[in-house]
Amino acid sequence: MVQPFIFKFGGASIKDSTSLIRIVDILKSRWKNGLVIVVSAAGDTTDHLEEIIQRAIDNLGFSEQLSQLEDFHLNLCRPLFEEGHSIFQQVSNEFTKLKRTLDNEKKQEGNAYFYDQVIGYGELISTRILQELLCQNGHYCVWQDARELIATDSNYKMAKVDWVLTMQRCRKHLADKLETFPVVTQGFIGSDWQGTTTTLGREGSDFTAAILAVSLGAKSVTIWKDVAGILNGDPDLFPDAVKFKYLDFEEAAEMTYFGAKVIHPKTIKPLAKQRIPLYVKSFIDPESSGTVIGNFKDDPKIPITVIRKNQVLASFRIKDLSKVGGFHFEELFNLGKKLNWNVHLTQGSAVTVKMVIDRPDQVSNVLPKSILEIFHVEWEEELTLVTIRNYLPTQEKIYESKAEKIYLAQKSPHTLQLVLSMKTTGKSTVS
Ligand code: ASP
Ligand code: MG
Repeated sequence: MVQPFIFKFGGASIKDSTSLIRIVDILKSRWKNGLVIVVSAAGDTTDHLEEIIQRAIDNLGFSEQLSQLEDFHLNLCRPLFEEGHSIFQQVSNEFTKLKRTLDNEKKQEGNAYFYDQVIGYGELISTRILQELLCQNGHYCVWQDARELIATDSNYKMAKVDWVLTMQRCRKHLADKLETFPVVTQGFIGSDWQGTTTTLGREGSDFTAAILAVSLGAKSVTIWKDVAGILNGDPDLFPDAVKFKYLDFEEAAEMTYFGAKVIHPKTIKPLAKQRIPLYVKSFIDPESSGTVIGNFKDDPKIPITVIRKNQVLASFRIKDLSKVGGFHFEELFNLGKKLNWNVHLTQGSAVTVKMVIDRPDQVSNVLPKSILEIFHVEWEEELTLVTIRNYLPTQEKIYESKAEKIYLAQKSPHTLQLVLSMKTTGKSTVS
């Protein structure tokens, strides 16, 4: 039995015809049975589809936006395929289906179900194009609908994976195919028990690669990106940032938890559990070594800095002091979970819980009455969260001197987190 291995290509690596040719070149020398190619939507397609979905919900016309998106895809294909190739018809057919879905599916404001029925067309179309292109270049491969593989619950827009069922489906639909042909499939989408399309959350294709790897007992996952590998800081902010050759699973998980945008946060955990190495490589310079994420516990710890802007510091203070106790932590974590908060730091005392959260709009608008009855809530907006793993004492001093004000600091032996303002901030009170 061949041992599968997974390659994942993101939107940036299929944003134009030249990039698609580059993918074919990368795959040429790595082509063998067992290869599963996971692909995102081309370029900014998912953003455009989100805009179209919103227009449909608001009952605004969307035909212009839709035909622009169709043209973008047909233009991707023009330099790659001869006139009359079936791919042009396939792309147009997908757009006809997409339009039908937009017109006929039930929609209402915030309708996650409607969103999921539309948004996955980006991946369904990009995978058709890549599969046809590979076949045309003599690399015969099979197009596989990921909804037959990834089983989820019906929590649209942020579906939870049913690992047992997914494993069964992967064995059933993929194992035999992979003995004979590589497979091209979509990231991001799955289906619930009724067969309805679901999605794993924005940027979820990395996670798809990990799910397939675990379900198939893969040898490795390789994520091809437009960066050289994983760096120890954002190169736009830190020109002398260095690339990791090796990175321990735990360090990588911490980085993504603290908000580094290198890989989707859910990707690391399942791979670490199964000890499946994750390679992050450049599709622009495919021969360079990139970064390997694996079990490297004893490696020297290099400082890693993650900077998140536009953060909100929410402070929840108990109104009725007779209620002081541990329970309010749970209350707030449940709230965060329900509202899909992206929390990067929590600090608690008997009376107050502070949370640093990504999405300011959600913090201020939707606090339920039940929470406001218990807590006095305040929040500060437009803050910056600096997280340094394996920090050096000098680094703390540098940020102290740069900050206008430090709102919160949290230190453990390995991690320093500072919530600070670089410019004027707004302050609001809810109750
Ligand atoms: N196309 C989806 C998105 O842009 C999934 C992904 O790219 O990973 O969010
Ligand atoms: Mg994408």
